[in-house]
Amino acid sequence: VIAIGTPDRKVITTCAYCGVGCSFEAEMRGDTVVRMTPWKHGKANRGHSCVKGRFAWGYATHKDRILEPMIRESITDPWEVVSWDEAITFAATRMRDIQARHGVKAIGGITSSRCTNEETYLVQKMIRAVFGNNNTDTCARVCHSPTGYGLGRAFGTSAGTQDFDSVEHTDVVIVIGANPTDGHPVFASRLKKRLREGAKLIVIDPRRTDLVRSPHVEAAHHLPLRPGTNVAVVTALAHVIVTQGLYDEAFIRERCDWDEFQHYAEFVAQDRHSPEAIAMLTGVDPNELRAAARLFARGGNGAIYYGLGVTEHSQGSTTVMGIANLAMLTGNLGRPGVGVNPLRGQNNVQGACDMGSFPHELPGYRHVSQDSTREVFEKLWGAVLDREPGLRIPNMLDAAVEGTFKGLYVQGEDILQSDPDTKHVSAGLAAMECVIVQDLFLNETANYAHVFLPGSTFLEKDGTFTNAERRINRVRRVMMPKNGYADWEVTQLLANAMGAGWTYTHPSQVMDEIAATTPTFAGVSYEFLEERGSVQWPCNELHPEGTPIMHVDGFMRGRGRFIVTEYVATDERTGPRFPLLLTTGRILSQYNVGAQTRRTDNVVWHDQDVLEIHPHDAEVRGVKEGDWVRLASRAGETSLRALITDRVSPGVVYTTFHHPDTQANVITTDFSDWATNCPEYKVTAVQVALTNGP
Ligand code: SF4
Repeated sequence: VIAIGTPDRKVITTCAYCGVGCSFEAEMRGDTVVRMTPWKHGKANRGHSCVKGRFAWGYATHKDRILEPMIRESITDPWEVVSWDEAITFAATRMRDIQARHGVKAIGGITSSRCTNEETYLVQKMIRAVFGNNNTDTCARVCHSPTGYGLGRAFGTSAGTQDFDSVEHTDVVIVIGANPTDGHPVFASRLKKRLREGAKLIVIDPRRTDLVRSPHVEAAHHLPLRPGTNVAVVTALAHVIVTQGLYDEAFIRERCDWDEFQHYAEFVAQDRHSPEAIAMLTGVDPNELRAAARLFARGGNGAIYYGLGVTEHSQGSTTVMGIANLAMLTGNLGRPGVGVNPLRGQNNVQGACDMGSFPHELPGYRHVSQDSTREVFEKLWGAVLDREPGLRIPNMLDAAVEGTFKGLYVQGEDILQSDPDTKHVSAGLAAMECVIVQDLFLNETANYAHVFLPGSTFLEKDGTFTNAERRINRVRRVMMPKNGYADWEVTQLLANAMGAGWTYTHPSQVMDEIAATTPTFAGVSYEFLEERGSVQWPCNELHPEGTPIMHVDGFMRGRGRFIVTEYVATDERTGPRFPLLLTTGRILSQYNVGAQTRRTDNVVWHDQDVLEIHPHDAEVRGVKEGDWVRLASRAGETSLRALITDRVSPGVVYTTFHHPDTQANVITTDFSDWATNCPEYKVTAVQVALTNGP
């Protein structure tokens, strides 16, 4: 409900939807939001916003919110509303009891990219210092974990290289596996402005997105590749650049490992990587591919932006490394207008990864096996830390099915709806003795929970989010928590009930601890953020004003590393039974599984997911516009209405995953990235047939 009234105060805070991280003035009357106005001094958005940040905050007061803790002995019992004390004691006792019977590694937890840096830091601290293991993972596992792996190996740190302002200096842009118009609208506007000023665009995407052709923008080249062939296309671009001598030798000699470059150049120069050789495999016109490669290498400042269409594949990490290769090959790093720019889906994906949410890394991307790093945290936390990496989300679920993993704390994440292979997720959850869900709503995962702890919205807490350009933005409380506690306070209650003895009274103290333990955050404090508005890490003695552009004089790892990127076909194959390839994406007005956008009480949100299908594929199946179709894969099936369009190529179908009725993840497979286990959401072999209804 949009409250009508005259605001009596304003609070500057940060949007909790996508990784652009727009700043807003929350205009308040008492404890009620009157309107959210994009803040003109916000460095990520400069007074702009999209429909979600501006209007989709009504979920904070939606009737579906659960505001009191609940427990139950068994998942077949009804929920019992209890006091916070009872719920926390119940949860802590169960978790400790599991550890007494099954060992300290039988429990773990999942942090959320929706929560603040301070909250994710505390969850991983609780798991490491209180649970006594490294079984911590994050929902970034299912989106940008390949970015962490690939950019870490190539450059030495797991982050985008540029600020958003950089796009104003670019001459040629590759957008691969991303649809910023829908996914990152405020950044898309800045990109389109630059394109209207004359910059050239290359789109690599199975689907003809809005960027390929719209009233004011037209891509110079669209490479509509077959889903699952990113690595082959990126390597073929490098083939053209190397074999035609278009690479930047001076940059490579000065900044990169020359021996590794030579090895890589020999690899990509092989005839099997030529545009003609891969044309049948990828479906991409060799002439278009050659022209795109020449344009990127010789077109001036070249920047690459990418999204989940790169990472959510069995070779997601390989494609990220291939993109890093392309940028180094063409000398497009370390100055405005260039760089490798992952467009992060959720508001705090970058921050969740920075804060040590992965099972192998402590805050600041330092491996748990590094004695000197563990010593820093052990001294401060008063605990002995495990030097072995813990379990990732899919490994926790596997171990649960096998009977060795028994307890899970999930903060701000609905793994049953958003993780692949729903049947396996539910089997894993059902096998556990204690599942603690902390969320705003009774989500699907909560069907398997024994404890429900009410979560808080971004409007109800202080903290920071880190956006896709590494910008640390303040989140400020505009109303008191409806449930009584901010999420970080609930984690502290649970940690203390398990023996921690934490005494934090404000998230600024958590940030001080992050700064004291994490060199890239050493200069960050709430006082500093009050003065400057925001800052981009690294922010420390070497970079006291922060770092808008990384790798200016040298890479974080020293010399840039070229990595051979061999294409390996996904195990997900089409055949007579499943002849089409399904790929997925988002629409502007909805967000992920829609838990928030569907509960805003605004009426403009799309009310269903649809299946985009090419006219030829529709005709041979007798499907007409608006018909119900049954979409089936080897994993499961669902029904949607058909939308007939040549935005998709013959042989490819596309849908979004915003509505619980669609349950797109019932269809997706359990294949995942070889390096990080990021699920292969973007390639599923399917059949489509007419049906009578949902
Ligand atoms: Fe929020 Fe992203 Fe929209 Fe900005 S572009 S208002 S951060 S959803």
